[in-house]
Amino acid sequence: MTFVTRFAPSPTGRLHKGHAFSALTAWTAAHEAGGRFILRIEDIDPTRCRPEFEAAILEDLGWLGLDWAQPVRRQSAHLADYAAVVADLEARGLLYRCFRTRKEILDAIGDAPHGPAEAVRPGPHPAGEEVRLLAEGRAFAWRLSLERARESLGEAAWNALSFREEGVGPAGESGLIRARPETAGDVVLARKDAGSAYHVAVTHDDALQGVSHVVRGEDLFEATHIQVLIQTLMGWPTPVYRHHRLLTGEDGRRFAKRDNAVTLAQLRADGVTPEALRAELGF
Ligand code: GLU
Repeated sequence: MTFVTRFAPSPTGRLHKGHAFSALTAWTAAHEAGGRFILRIEDIDPTRCRPEFEAAILEDLGWLGLDWAQPVRRQSAHLADYAAVVADLEARGLLYRCFRTRKEILDAIGDAPHGPAEAVRPGPHPAGEEVRLLAEGRAFAWRLSLERARESLGEAAWNALSFREEGVGPAGESGLIRARPETAGDVVLARKDAGSAYHVAVTHDDALQGVSHVVRGEDLFEATHIQVLIQTLMGWPTPVYRHHRLLTGEDGRRFAKRDNAVTLAQLRADGVTPEALRAELGF
């Protein structure tokens, strides 16, 4: 099997040290395995992504000394592909329309016996109500019904949902891990106005691009559970996962895009060399 991995940033800000660590981890893994390193621009959210940040990503990663396979896939150029996945799941009866606002859902959960920690599973609206809300032109989201997904796969396949973790999750998880999509609830896979959600685009592209190993931060560990379910429903292979620890600053907090002091652009302006940064990050 060819080792293929990717770095998949969203161009919503400048890259910082944490991104450099993640990109270097993935790039080094590909090189050590004699495989391929892909850069993918995850810009499906037009309200948060900006072209100038995309240009800066290419510049920053080049400065860091990384190279990647061409052409670079930009998700905003493939929205129809993700919509087709949503349409397929919908045609198979696995999605339902949800007209509830975020606040309505949180309020409802707050009243529920298990309290706010319970995953969001609002369930379909009664048929008459749905027809009325549709006729009113109200905005809705398409949610993946875990109940219908489970019925569609059957108990044996549902219980076999799993992924191999070669890195480590936030609670020390590693090895063969049982996927538990129920912890995510009935996730939103598309919105009437904003198109498909991250889980759809990321699983579609990992399959399309033959990604064998997903190397990414442990903040996305939980997302893996629902992504494994989508892969299985779509008949796509589940890659091996290598979640890595998140870098933190001296105050113990993880880096965020708003932390200007640690952006690669600022480090560069301060005279830090790529060699020095690589060494500091352990590469
Ligand atoms: N685009 C996602 C982000 O910037 C990462 C997706 C992934 O690595 O699966 O957080």
